[in-house]
Amino acid sequence: MSHIPNVYDAEPIPAAAMEDVSRILRSGDLFRYTSDNSPVALLEAEFAALMGSKYALAVSSCSAALFLSLKALDLPKGARVLIPAFTFGAVPSAVVHADFMPVLCECGDNYRINLDDFEAKIDLVDAVIISHMRGHTSDMDEIMAICSAYGKPVIEDAAHSLGTTWHGRNIGTIGKVGCFSFQSYKMLNAGEGGIMISDDADLIARAVIMSGAYEHNWKKHPVLQDAFAKWQNKLPLYNQRLNTLSAAIIRPQLAELPRRVANGRRNHDHVATQLNHSPWLAVPEKLAPEERAPDSIQFNLVGMSDAQIHDFIAATTDAGMKVQVFGQSTDNARAFWNWQFIERIPQLPRTREMLMRACDVRLPARLNLDDCDIIAQIIVEAAEQVMTPELAIA
Ligand SMILES: *Cc1c(COP(=O)(O)O)cnc(C)c1O
Repeated sequence: MSHIPNVYDAEPIPAAAMEDVSRILRSGDLFRYTSDNSPVALLEAEFAALMGSKYALAVSSCSAALFLSLKALDLPKGARVLIPAFTFGAVPSAVVHADFMPVLCECGDNYRINLDDFEAKIDLVDAVIISHMRGHTSDMDEIMAICSAYGKPVIEDAAHSLGTTWHGRNIGTIGKVGCFSFQSYKMLNAGEGGIMISDDADLIARAVIMSGAYEHNWKKHPVLQDAFAKWQNKLPLYNQRLNTLSAAIIRPQLAELPRRVANGRRNHDHVATQLNHSPWLAVPEKLAPEERAPDSIQFNLVGMSDAQIHDFIAATTDAGMKVQVFGQSTDNARAFWNWQFIERIPQLPRTREMLMRACDVRLPARLNLDDCDIIAQIIVEAAEQVMTPELAIA
């Protein structure tokens, strides 16, 4: 077999970022509120314009953005927040951090929210976080219709959906707030970082203050002046600001987004076609209004027993590639039964069933189609080897 592509390495950071980082290091001006034209403020303006949102607030992580969004909604004490049961452990954690209670909603074997369970639980909650997990967009037409009928605010966790659209509209702009991540495994890489966007001036003003715009630092958020004054001294300061260097590292990557999105989609669809030829592998279809921006691929194992799933994972490992089945390890942060920090872990048989046979493989945008062919071949052959050993070439 030809060389196995490395799916973990990041792309190099654009040279323009290095120049700006050295300029900032020479000046020592690392705090967003010490200058008027901080790269953090510039990033906020550029990101809001890119997404077609009125306001953006850059923060230390997507988890911080989710936390601040929840706090800025001004929910009642002890509020319940509906989240998908298939998401990253950071999402229920943000709810617990904000002193609210996560309520888990079933997800289907296409990784998206089960709308029957969603509708059954909506009246029990005060707000909703829709996690577009691994960039799989849940049906936002249905979700927004249900949530507006019941008057529940929607936060979009778009950490893994930057560049994804729904009816041509950017994911993250459909709910009241959209949250994104700049952690290294996402489309834009600052190591750590996050950003939230909204058209609601009052909500963003509250989040700006709570993110750590103490005293009159909010004056450095130029687009929002009127919304701030009434919140002065009334809100806690959680200090979750973004470092200036992180903003300088992200800004030149914004121009690369269209290429990364196009290549990520090309790579995903190329591998998906090959996997779908195998009777043992199924890549769920995207929803019709959705245009995706994947940097990984998920697929379900079909007709395999637990022992065969185990052998399939071993076969891919032997071939030099790591395939993760979300539910088949003791510590996967995307398996809800591992969230032992929440009060009561529900049963959720559909989501559990899906997680026990859903595989996860990184497919970064920098891979070429030859790399993708190698990855697809390893997966398809591992499934054949396990399911039809009599036909497999020794
Ligand atoms: C990565 C991720 C997060 C957390 O982002 P951080 O910036 O690391 O806090 C939340 N939700 C989803 C769906 C993610 O993929």
